[in-house]
Amino acid sequence: MKEKLEEISKQGLQKIDNIKSIEELQDLRKELMGKKSPLSEVLKTLGTLNPDMKKEVGMKATEIKNTFSLKLDEKEEELIAAKSVVDEPIDLTLPGIKPEEGVLHPITQMCYDLNDAFLSLGFEVYNEDDISSEKYAFDNLNFAPDHPARQSMDTFWIEGTEDKLGNERLCLRPHLTGGSVRYLLEHGAPARFVYPGRVYRNETTDARHERAFFQYEALIVDKDISFSSGVVMIQTIFEKVFGRKINVRMREGFFPFTEPGYEIDMECLVCTGKGCRVCNHNGWIEVMPGGVIHPNVLKSANLDPEVWTGFYINIGLDRLVMMRYGVDDVRLFHSADLRFLEQFK
Ligand SMILES: [Zn+2]
Repeated sequence: MKEKLEEISKQGLQKIDNIKSIEELQDLRKELMGKKSPLSEVLKTLGTLNPDMKKEVGMKATEIKNTFSLKLDEKEEELIAAKSVVDEPIDLTLPGIKPEEGVLHPITQMCYDLNDAFLSLGFEVYNEDDISSEKYAFDNLNFAPDHPARQSMDTFWIEGTEDKLGNERLCLRPHLTGGSVRYLLEHGAPARFVYPGRVYRNETTDARHERAFFQYEALIVDKDISFSSGVVMIQTIFEKVFGRKINVRMREGFFPFTEPGYEIDMECLVCTGKGCRVCNHNGWIEVMPGGVIHPNVLKSANLDPEVWTGFYINIGLDRLVMMRYGVDDVRLFHSADLRFLEQFK
């Protein structure tokens, strides 16, 4: 039995000496000290020995175990120390590894640029949830009960709420305008704020239309807001975004939440007015509807239309970015195609 222990000790110490890596050391620790190690096997037989032998073998086995443990710890320290020693010279003149730099999505960048422009005019930036309700998306905004936009062909209604009404009938917001009344109910008037975000429409996609797209709406409400306040907002945006004056035309437009309403077009910068598929070959592109806030909308916001007036503009961010960079297909923005997106670095 004693010879067997001697042999276990000798072999074990030799193996510890030969270790080259931390991984090997961990394996060997299991092999020498684990439940199935030769040392443990010997200890299991102690019960069969006479008391003297039992004491002697027990002590010897414990001694070997302690030695293994000590030597393994020493070896481990040695290996860790060796690892941190640089054994190859470093060439400090070699070029470094350049980390890949990310870039803001062009729509995000446009949104930030507009925020900067509006913040400098004393506006606040307001964020509303993507899920809205019939009350906020339509009822508050003077949409007639039978207005076609309420139907599922335009709006994504949330399953299970289609049969409900008002606040309980939920949808993905089809426009941002519902956020205007929410803000006014929370903050009252006077107010000037912008509320950017993604909106959702159940429609067929083409070069100018997507099912989800970004809008950027701005609203001023005060005691004597005139049409010219709206025009100043529009000019400010274009000058900020394009760095120069842009040809703009305003046409009469009808939106339930405005009275009067306007369609605001800018010259198509993709074809510089000559006509292309983005501008439907007429040289102008519709970038924002806008108008004077309808008295019924003010009433929804608990404001007296005899006292307060306001002006909306709703900017199609995707289209503005298309104009800024001369991009001719809106679907590229959501394609997640890096070949396209990396051009905006
Ligand atoms: Zn064009």
